Amino acid sequence: MKVLLTTLNSKYVHSNLALKYLYMAGRKHCGQLEIQEFTINNSRDYIFNELVMGGFDAVCFSVYIWNIEKTLQLAADLKKACPRTVILFGGPEVSYDCRAFMEQNPFVDFLIAGEGEDSFAKWCRALEGAGSFQDVEGLLFRKGDTVFAGPAPCPVDFSGLTQPYQEFPCEEDKVIYYEASRGCPFRCSYCISSLDRKVRELPRERVKADLDRFLHNTVKQVKFLDRTFNWDRGRSLELFRYLIERDNHVTNFHFEICGDLLDEETLELLGTARKGLFQFEIGIQSTNPRALAAVDRSGDTKKLRKNVRRLVEMGNSHIHTDLIAGLPFEDYASFRQSFNDVYELGADNLQLGFLKLLKGTKIRREAKRYGYVYMEKAPYQVISNMFISAEELCGLKRIEEVLDLYHNRGGFSSALSWATKQMARTPFDFYEAFADDYYAGGFQHKSHKKEDLYRILYQFGCRRGAGEKMKALLEADMEKTMNFDAVKKFKRKGWSIIL
Ligand code: SF4
Repeated sequence: MKVLLTTLNSKYVHSNLALKYLYMAGRKHCGQLEIQEFTINNSRDYIFNELVMGGFDAVCFSVYIWNIEKTLQLAADLKKACPRTVILFGGPEVSYDCRAFMEQNPFVDFLIAGEGEDSFAKWCRALEGAGSFQDVEGLLFRKGDTVFAGPAPCPVDFSGLTQPYQEFPCEEDKVIYYEASRGCPFRCSYCISSLDRKVRELPRERVKADLDRFLHNTVKQVKFLDRTFNWDRGRSLELFRYLIERDNHVTNFHFEICGDLLDEETLELLGTARKGLFQFEIGIQSTNPRALAAVDRSGDTKKLRKNVRRLVEMGNSHIHTDLIAGLPFEDYASFRQSFNDVYELGADNLQLGFLKLLKGTKIRREAKRYGYVYMEKAPYQVISNMFISAEELCGLKRIEEVLDLYHNRGGFSSALSWATKQMARTPFDFYEAFADDYYAGGFQHKSHKKEDLYRILYQFGCRRGAGEKMKALLEADMEKTMNFDAVKKFKRKGWSIIL
């Protein structure tokens, strides 16, 4: 049988690690197994043609919130074009409410819920006639109009899986995703990783061997998918030290960590890393204790903020912090406070996210209790709840847009540092006023070159009686981030913006 493993990534630089693991698990059991990855930005016709003309006996789609709707349309059309092609879905987006999903989408022949490697290998055998579908854990399948289910899904022996990069080449133009552990010890009620509480790790020596391979190939970035990389202090310390000692001066490593689990020894060690060697993503989500308790996020928020500030002050790692709007008990005023508390930590990136009520999560089951109204389809984002209105959340979306364009994109540090202190009472108030002005000017209707972003902020400064000061600071920022000729060209064109 000729079987395709495929997905629609959200960006070209992303690559799907799950498909590689499935390939390693299934290849011995399948006549011809292939992988082809697309992105959500590829045209529907291009993907459809590839799927139809590939002549596959089976097409297996890995789905998540960013690709489910487009994938469903493609799969439905593929079934019309090639009725004999078997269609299988798997991935987090179909691992819950599985039966309803099968009933709503009659063109899907099979669904694998939960971790897929073992089930996929068995499914390949059954497809080749060497086993029975009803023995495959986590599998749902059709017989006529009826949906049947195999035994309940069970966790795979993670350390027994073959590491895909032992065979797959390290693609130079892509981020390399890597898992040194699966599962998370925490239980944040909005997160599907909280449903897999038993952390399963690869042995340290094996992780080191994998890291050596990436270092040897001088890949640009390795992104660890481990849900909380530093939950085991001794292990993370050893691996951080290993990477510092073997630094090839090219590869950068990205980790999601829990900020309040960092201890003095780890912080001191991290302070010795080459600038740019590490990136840390640290979820803060809110500084409102009631909101955090409501979503089962325990932890020492004081220590967390202290550690983030310390990492920022060290200045050698890229620090990314996250906030989530729409948590229970977090009204607009409370979110303003959370924003200000986190903004003042000075991280390189502050991502303002919006709560998603994902299938299978506790918060989705509690939706009524907190009056949640949320999108019916993926990404199931909050529209309102009993604490914050839809209009207020839309207002925060505007703030998110200018925050991303200016603070997160970089290049405005002098101007923003001054403006967030001098043009408003707090950073949040500045971004709120600027976002209102940005939208009133109609700037949201198109994307802007960076030089126009300077002009837009300058004009906001002018309307607030601070044009000259803003101009001087923006010129200083431009000189820091743009080359000499670009600055000269900018000055020749002037500060007016024509939409
Ligand atoms: S949000 Fe992070 S810490 Fe919380 S359960 Fe999910 S992965 Fe774990």
